[in-house]
Amino acid sequence: MRLSVDDDELVACVSCGLCLPHCPTYRVTGEETASPRGRISAMRAVHFDDAPLDDEFTAYMDLCVQCRACEAVCPSSVPFGRLMEGARHTLAEQTRYQPWWRRLGHRLLGHHRTLLAGSSALAVAQRMGVVPARAGLPRLPVRRRPLRSTGTDVWLHTGCVMDAWQRPVHAATIRVLGSAGAGVMLPGRGAACCGALAAHAGLARTAREFADRTMAAMPGNAPVLVGSAGCGAAMKDFGRLLGTREAEAFSARVQDVHEWLAGRVDHLPTGRLGTPVAVQDPCHLRHVQQAHQHVRTVLARFADLVELDDEGLCCGAGGAYASFHPDMAGAIRDRKLGAIARSGATVVASANPGCALHLAAAGIDARHPMELIDEAIGRTSGGG
Ligand code: SF4
Ligand code: SF4
Repeated sequence: MRLSVDDDELVACVSCGLCLPHCPTYRVTGEETASPRGRISAMRAVHFDDAPLDDEFTAYMDLCVQCRACEAVCPSSVPFGRLMEGARHTLAEQTRYQPWWRRLGHRLLGHHRTLLAGSSALAVAQRMGVVPARAGLPRLPVRRRPLRSTGTDVWLHTGCVMDAWQRPVHAATIRVLGSAGAGVMLPGRGAACCGALAAHAGLARTAREFADRTMAAMPGNAPVLVGSAGCGAAMKDFGRLLGTREAEAFSARVQDVHEWLAGRVDHLPTGRLGTPVAVQDPCHLRHVQQAHQHVRTVLARFADLVELDDEGLCCGAGGAYASFHPDMAGAIRDRKLGAIARSGATVVASANPGCALHLAAAGIDARHPMELIDEAIGRTSGGG
């Protein structure tokens, strides 16, 4: 069976193994089949040697967090993220890898009103004590305050789950951008979901449809700012995903919100948090966008920053990964918790909602940098 991958990209791996220490699933298991090199070897067996698309192959692919740490350190520039998405796309097309209920879940992310209503119903169920703690959900909001546009300088991508569960982060971001002199436009309803989770699941058609809708909802030339590292990485890749000049032009407008603010730090007011902050680098900000230093540039104006000593290892959140592989996600997170404990910091900044929720579920006070900056500015101005 030919996988939906490029032959040249698949043979680019020279099996050097330099990526292995950076792979979170290999670090937990010590198994070659849970390493980037082992996964590539399994893909080659299917693609070139007719090995079956069986449960074993599916399990090897599905256990990957898609953190892309392997890609960042690979001397042969193997585009592992593309290979994994291609392998999963073939699995989704040819096997029961993505059953109807998972496909439905991904489709629902594109129906924002339904997502908000479902999320509110879940929040009520939480209050009634009928949602088991092992579901690992944060305390969800029953209601959300509407966001308001404040100008026309930049777009703010609001997204799906982040808007449903963490809208206060968007509100804080709009205030911080406003304090830097930028008026913010909000996308129309079509931009409910950027399609990142669908792409990771191998559901390429859904991912492309959502990408089209996201682009249409934020027209013009203004920068498109994103506060979720996973969404930002996906939106910067729309050009490749859709293969059009329009998509390439759109992707060129996308910036992580810290990336955009880093060049305008002097425009921000002053303010200071009373506690040191440890910075957790979301994988798709560090390994894919390579925009993680911008978080430090912006946040350092408002807090004493503490570095973790784990060289940016994944925290195990991986988009929806923690829901489907809670044991592995927890084992990967344990290493991160150790690094946080050694840092001595009691507050952790994470520029990705999935990482922040995953860490918070383990009792960490994890907050988005925009919330921390908003708080610092509010304190100084007497508003917080
Ligand atoms: S670092 Fe790159 S070339 Fe080396 S084993 Fe890993 S994927 Fe293959
Ligand atoms: S993407 Fe992450 S989890 Fe997957 S093989 Fe690469 S390093 Fe390992």
